[in-house]
Amino acid sequence: MWSLIVHGGAKEISPEEEEANRSGCINALEAGRTILASGGTAVDAVEAAVRVLESDPTFNAGYGSALNGDGEIEMCASLMEGKNVNVGAVTVIKGVWHPISVAKAMLFEEPILLASGGARRFAQQKQMELCDPADLVSPEQLERSRTGKHDTVGCIAFDQHGNLAVGTSTGGLDGSHPGRVGDSPVPGCGYYADNHLGAVAFSGDGEHIARKTLAARVMHALADGPEQALKASIKELETIGGEAGGIVLTAAGLSGWAHNSREFAVAFMTSDDKHAHVFLRKEDKEN
Ligand code: ASP
Repeated sequence: MWSLIVHGGAKEISPEEEEANRSGCINALEAGRTILASGGTAVDAVEAAVRVLESDPTFNAGYGSALNGDGEIEMCASLMEGKNVNVGAVTVIKGVWHPISVAKAMLFEEPILLASGGARRFAQQKQMELCDPADLVSPEQLERSRTGKHDTVGCIAFDQHGNLAVGTSTGGLDGSHPGRVGDSPVPGCGYYADNHLGAVAFSGDGEHIARKTLAARVMHALADGPEQALKASIKELETIGGEAGGIVLTAAGLSGWAHNSREFAVAFMTSDDKHAHVFLRKEDKEN
């Protein structure tokens, strides 16, 4: 059995953006599904799915990321595997096409998180795809910057070997202070994975999510059920304000998702399904 869930961020999606969000999530799911269905690892599936989202300017990750207060793109990404709870993450990284692949290359290194120039130097040493930081700016993002939107992408996979992995990738918040770090590269805040319990990934207001260690809360509450645990954590977040959307997979491969943002694009599928399930908001009927 395998199971896969991706999200395209807790945000507002205008009617003109709906199709791009839906198809972007389906394309990402398809990249991960191909790997899981042929017996590949959850880590590889997460990387493949997130790379698709990073390449798609519909989403605030990789190409088309948000611009900080200096008009520059600084990105964060994480990859965590649930068998030995290894973590690889990068933050405030500039000029790489796929931060998730740099995070994956970090997975079995001693440090769990590298920042800024050190992260980029690591990417270079590992022969990752580097670029001019300006190459990551998309026309769509220049437009979005004016509307002050933000989001993060995420993916969780459960593979046929019984292993979980989770990944996040984001350009952070529009107009944020240079060097700002949110929840997305911090284990226990924006994400977590442990084969014994499950895995979770969040998008939303990073400072609020980090202050409430939202991913850790979900992990501790997973025995109540995946969606219950997510909903309770978002309720807790609301005590200090802040928007979020989260996805979960349990150790048995059961998925759940919840959000208090207006929209939250999600796609999921298991080996038992004939087709992907795609939603832009919880109250939507499936189509
Ligand atoms: N959580 C991300 C951050 O704070 C942004 C988002 O998901 O909206 O960097």
